[in-house]
Amino acid sequence: MAALLSVQDLTVGYESSAGAVTALDSVSIEINENELVSVVGESGCGKSTLALAMIGLLPTPPARVLNGEIEFKGTNLLGLGPKRMREYRGTQIAMIFQEPLSSLNPVYKIGDQIAEAITIKRMRDDGRSVIESEVMQKTHKIVPPSPSKLPRGKRKIPAEMKEDTIASLKLVRIPDPDQVIDRYPFELSGGMRQRVMIAMALSQEPALLIADEPTTALDVTTQAQVLKLMKELMDKVKTSILLITHDLAVACQVADRVAVMYAGDIVETSNVYDLFSKPLHPYTQGLISCVPTGSKRKVVLKPIPGSVPDLRTRMVGCKYVSRCPYAMQVCSERKPRLLDVMNDHQVACFLHGEADGSNTANN
Ligand code: SF4
Repeated sequence: MAALLSVQDLTVGYESSAGAVTALDSVSIEINENELVSVVGESGCGKSTLALAMIGLLPTPPARVLNGEIEFKGTNLLGLGPKRMREYRGTQIAMIFQEPLSSLNPVYKIGDQIAEAITIKRMRDDGRSVIESEVMQKTHKIVPPSPSKLPRGKRKIPAEMKEDTIASLKLVRIPDPDQVIDRYPFELSGGMRQRVMIAMALSQEPALLIADEPTTALDVTTQAQVLKLMKELMDKVKTSILLITHDLAVACQVADRVAVMYAGDIVETSNVYDLFSKPLHPYTQGLISCVPTGSKRKVVLKPIPGSVPDLRTRMVGCKYVSRCPYAMQVCSERKPRLLDVMNDHQVACFLHGEADGSNTANN
């Protein structure tokens, strides 16, 4: 079965005054229908760049796609112009960001913002293009007018829209949704705002939801609730999820499959069980050994020595070589390819490739 979204050999660079930075280096990843894939790695490893490239939101310039394809339902998204891309972004592929306060409009009530999203979805279902829907909203041709266009104090969500707006909030288990629709974003807690963002994204019934560090700004209890909710909604709304996180515990709780990124490369990918029970790449092993388990007392956590390489430098070999306790001669000379080593488990490391170096990326 073809993947819902397939990224092949994606290379993205950023121009900066200090030199060109390769943020993604021939990254390949697939997401299947109704699957939750988590991309994990340290800050700056390229996770968010990957997400932004998928949804066509890379800041160009300074970012530049140098190579690769992003195929969604058989269409190469990188070949689409800005107008065609808007037929996918926010509708078939939705995204929620780390800090919902900066994603929600501070001067519109929660109900207005959700009703607007529902209006666009309805118009699309009626056969109007996303762009046409947006133009009609801007020119006030929608009957009834978009509630957010009415003067403050006089906004009233139409009755039939109100029902759907409240239903959206109920879906993400917001208490007292009929009260919440009249609140402004600043009046809600971080967890509630993130639920609102999830409700808005899911109101579009997207085939793919990209969640970029959606729980980082939340306390542990709220984080667990939001993750559980996302997982449950996957089945209800029939959507796939790409979860970007630096927190291995988060990926472990909800993901079906995990891809580990390091310095712009995917170094290991596997189903979640094998990745945490039998990590193969030394970087994945290092990441896991840094996570406090809480089960054993007096266990000393082992941080990974060294730091991430300077991505302005073109490296020939494995990018982890300066930090790896198992580094060999070949590791500095060639870059290992991501290879199948077990069923549904791929790793890019010479420890798990052919000894003659035939799993190098340059072959
Ligand atoms: Fe370590 Fe070499 Fe494997 Fe890179 S390829 S992770 S340096 S053993």
